[in-house]
Amino acid sequence: MIIILLGAPGAGKGTQADLIGERLGLVTIASGNLLRENIGNGTPLGLRADAYMQRGELVPDGLVIDMVTARLKAPDVARGVILDGFPRTLGQAQALDANLAAQHKQVDRALYLKVTDEALLDRLSGRWICRNCQASYHEKFNPPRVGGVCDLCGGELYQRNDDRRDVMENRLRVYFDQTMPVIEYYQANGTLVEIDGAQDIEKVGEDLLAAVGPVPAVVVEGVTDSSAA
Ligand code: AMP
Repeated sequence: MIIILLGAPGAGKGTQADLIGERLGLVTIASGNLLRENIGNGTPLGLRADAYMQRGELVPDGLVIDMVTARLKAPDVARGVILDGFPRTLGQAQALDANLAAQHKQVDRALYLKVTDEALLDRLSGRWICRNCQASYHEKFNPPRVGGVCDLCGGELYQRNDDRRDVMENRLRVYFDQTMPVIEYYQANGTLVEIDGAQDIEKVGEDLLAAVGPVPAVVVEGVTDSSAA
């Protein structure tokens, strides 16, 4: 099962991808996290991507498509995947479709988390991320149990450079220009389901799981958490 999570920066994609990924027993691939890993490791891709990300611009399609396509070949993806932050342009959506079609697969659901602009700015400005496992927290809406420390792995929490207000405004502009057409693309081909992302985290998660519906048996096979079924 191939699931895409769509929505503006700050709509809650990362939090929800992890939440529903765990429930469904599917691996999550977040293109932003892959890029930050490359930057952290000083890879050639990371060196090229860094400047775009610092400005709140999109990393060029070719780089991101190659990176995600390579990741989709890993064995842990065979049963299905939740894609967070990819595709973000029409070119990426078409490349993903072509790549999946070559493996006789397709996007099963494009889940669109809809949140108002004011709420997005509010959320992004209080966001903290775990340096170790990338879990996302919010000062007001989803605080960690101990300030500055990740609930899940005890890692150090930090604020991303591109969550600064000026860069954030640019990221939102880029989103409206380049990613809204992706939402229209999935709407036109009938895979889009819109979810109210302004609700509390648990309710958004429930709505997303309901939109995914029953997962084919092959997907939940081997999942240890019995709630996954
Ligand atoms: P995110 O963690 O999803 O908010 O992404 C952070 C930044 O990484 C974005 O502002 C872009 O600069 C870059 N990025 C992440 N995913 C993509 C993508 N699919 N296409 C292009 N750039 C991306």
